[in-house]
Amino acid sequence: MANRVRILFALLVFAGFVSGCGCGDSDPATPVDAPDSTSGFMSAQPDDVALREAATTHPGDWLSYGRTYSEQRYSPLSQIDEGNVAELGLAWIYETGTIRGLEATPLVHDGVLYGTGSWSIVFALDAKTGHELWRYDPQVPRSVAASVCCDVVNRGAALYRGRVYVGTLDGRLIALDAKSGEPVWEVQTTDPSRPYTITGAPRVVKGKVLIGNSGAELGVRGYVSAYDASSGELVWRFYTVPGNPEEPFESPALARAAATWKGGRWWEIGGGGTVWDSMVFDPDLDLLYVGTGNGSPWIRTLRSPGGGDNLYLSSILALRPDTGELVWHYQTTPGDSWDYTATQPMILAELEIGGRQRRVLMQAPKNGFFYVLDRETGELLSAEPYVTVTWAKRVDPETGRPVLAEGALYGEATQDILPGASGGHNWQPMSFHRDTGLVMIPAMEMGMAFALDPDFRYRPGASNMGIDTIVASTSIAAGGFGGFLLAWDPVAQREVWRVPHRRPWNGGVLSTAGGLVFQGTGQATFEAFRAATGERLFSTPAGTGVVAPPITYEIDGEQYVSLLAGWGGGYALASADPPDETLASGNHGRLLTFKLGGERKLPTESAPKFSPEAIPVTADAALVKAGFETYHTWCVACHGPSAIGGGTIPDLRMLTPTRYTQFEEILMEGALLERGMPSFEKWLKEEDVDALRAYVLERRQALRVARSAESAPASSATAN
Ligand code: CA
Repeated sequence: MANRVRILFALLVFAGFVSGCGCGDSDPATPVDAPDSTSGFMSAQPDDVALREAATTHPGDWLSYGRTYSEQRYSPLSQIDEGNVAELGLAWIYETGTIRGLEATPLVHDGVLYGTGSWSIVFALDAKTGHELWRYDPQVPRSVAASVCCDVVNRGAALYRGRVYVGTLDGRLIALDAKSGEPVWEVQTTDPSRPYTITGAPRVVKGKVLIGNSGAELGVRGYVSAYDASSGELVWRFYTVPGNPEEPFESPALARAAATWKGGRWWEIGGGGTVWDSMVFDPDLDLLYVGTGNGSPWIRTLRSPGGGDNLYLSSILALRPDTGELVWHYQTTPGDSWDYTATQPMILAELEIGGRQRRVLMQAPKNGFFYVLDRETGELLSAEPYVTVTWAKRVDPETGRPVLAEGALYGEATQDILPGASGGHNWQPMSFHRDTGLVMIPAMEMGMAFALDPDFRYRPGASNMGIDTIVASTSIAAGGFGGFLLAWDPVAQREVWRVPHRRPWNGGVLSTAGGLVFQGTGQATFEAFRAATGERLFSTPAGTGVVAPPITYEIDGEQYVSLLAGWGGGYALASADPPDETLASGNHGRLLTFKLGGERKLPTESAPKFSPEAIPVTADAALVKAGFETYHTWCVACHGPSAIGGGTIPDLRMLTPTRYTQFEEILMEGALLERGMPSFEKWLKEEDVDALRAYVLERRQALRVARSAESAPASSATAN
C-alpha cells in the first residue's frame, strides 16, 4: 500500500515535469574571456574526426555522452572481465560536495575526467588519481528550483576542440576552456520569464553545440537549438510544436503539424514537446535524431479539445544538423495524455532483420514499447511491449500506430494505467551489448492513477499538468511495483533475462567487451552482471542510491570503471522511498572510481535515528484537511506523498521545532532560498501556510506514534 502511494507519486513527478517552451530569440553569446576567444580552437582535441571515429581510435576514452555517436554505451575494454570482476575495488573517490541528485555521464579524454553535478557545477579531475584540476560553479539562482520537476540535476557535458560545453539549470549554455575551467562564452538559450530549465547534456555535431530544454509540466513550448561551438552564435532552432496558428509558422514542418492540433489555445500554455534528453547523430546519413516530450498540459482534452495527433509531441525527429530541417518523424504516442515522452535514450546499430542488414534506431520510451526503426526513413520495423502495458493493445505494424485500450483516454474518473507517467524506462541510459546482441534496459513497473483535474486553470510558472495530483499521489494504482535490469533481444523483440532490484529507480547501464554489464542501484550498491545470463558477479556498497550510469576508460594500461553516486531525480524526491543507507543522512554526492585490486574504503555514515520531540497539535481537522490538499498540490513533488521524504531533501516531519514557526519566512519570503527551497509567495496565501503547518505537524505526530510503537518492548506491545 505504501509502495503504491509512492509509486504514484513518483510517476507523477518525474514523468511529467521535464519539458519546455521556447520563446523569443536568444541573445547573442557573451564572450567572457579574452577578445581572441577562438585562439587554438580549431586545432584542439577532440575534433570532429575524433568524435566520429571514437569507437576505433579512442578505445580507452569516453569522448561523448553515449561514448560514441551511436550512443551504445559499449566499451571495447576487456581487462576487467567475467573472471576477475569480483576483484574490483575503489581506486579513488571524489567528493562532489553536493547532497542532491547526480545523473551525469562523465567524459574522459587525455587522462582527464570531466563531470557535472547538482546545480550544473562542472569539475575536471585527474582520471588516474581523482585529483581536482578545476571546478566551475555557474551560480544557478536557487529560485530556479521552483521551476524544476525532477531535482536540480544535470546529465553531463560535451567535449570539443579543447572546450567543455554545459547547459545550466537556468537555461544557459556555457563554453569552458577544458584546461583551465574558465568560461569562454555563455548564452541564454531560453526565455527566463518562462519556466524553462536545462538538465540534459549538450551534443556537438559538425561544429555546432546542440541543446534542448525542459519545462512541459509547467507550461512551455519545446525546441532544440544549435549554437556555433566557436562563437556561441545561434545557428538554428527547431520548435517541436506549433505556436499561435494566426502567426507565421517558423518552418513548413510546423505548418503541417498545426493541422493535428484542433481547438484550444495550447500556445498560451506552451504546447510542450520539449527536447530534454536524447539527441543522437548519425554521421553516415547526416541525420540528427532528437526525442520530444509530453504536451503542456498533459491531457489532450485540455490543449487540443478537438483531438488530433498533436505533432510533434512524444516523437522521434530526424533533423539535418546543418539547418534543423525536419527529414522524417515517428510519433510513438499520438495525442499523448500520459506523459509518455519519447525523450528516452536512443541507440544506433546495424541489425540483421528478416535476412537484411538494417541501419536501425532503438528506443524504449516511457510508453512501454520497445521500438526498432529504420533510421534512414523512420519506417517502423517492430514494436513490442518490454514492460506491462495497459494503455494500448499493441502497435499496428501496418500503420505504425498504437491501438488504444478501453479507458486509456481518461477523464475525471480515476483510471489506473500502466506504465505510469514515470514510464517503463526513464532517462537512465540503456546500453547495447554488441557481443550478445542484447539491449540492457534499466526498466520499471509502476502504474499510476490518472484523472483529469476538472478545475484546471492555467497558473503561469506553476505545475500545469491538468491531472488531479491528489489522486495521482495518494490513490492506489493498478499493476506491479518494481525495477529490474532487463536484457532485451531487439531482433526477436523478446526478453532474454532480467535481474530484479528492490526499488524501481536505478542507475543507467554500461556494457563492455569483458562480457559484463554494470549498473548502480537504488538500494545503494554498484553491481556487475554476466551479459549472457544476468548472473550477478560483483556487488559493492555505493554509500547512497545510484541513478547515474557508469563509464569505463583506460590509463597506463589499467582499466577503470567510474560512476556518480547521489540519490536523486524525480522518483527520489517524490517517492517516499529512500535507500536505507541515506535515510535523512545527507546523501553525500561522490564520484566512485574502481579498478582491479583497488583498496580505497568508502567512508561510512550512520544516519541518526530521529525521534521527534513532542509538539502539541492544536489545529482542527478542517485545517489539517486543507493543509493536506495544499500540500499535495504544491509540496508533494519534492517533499513526497503524505509528507514522507525520499531521503535527499528534508523530511518535513523531522524538522527542528523552531522551523515550524518559520514557515511564513520560508514559504513567503524565501528564507531558505540559498539551500534550494524556493519561495511560494506568488501562489500561496497566509492561510495556506497555516494549513500546511497544521498538516505537517499532524504527520509529525503520526511519525512519533509510529516510532514509539516500534521502540516499545515486545512484551508491552502484546500485553493486552
Ligand atoms: Ca514529462
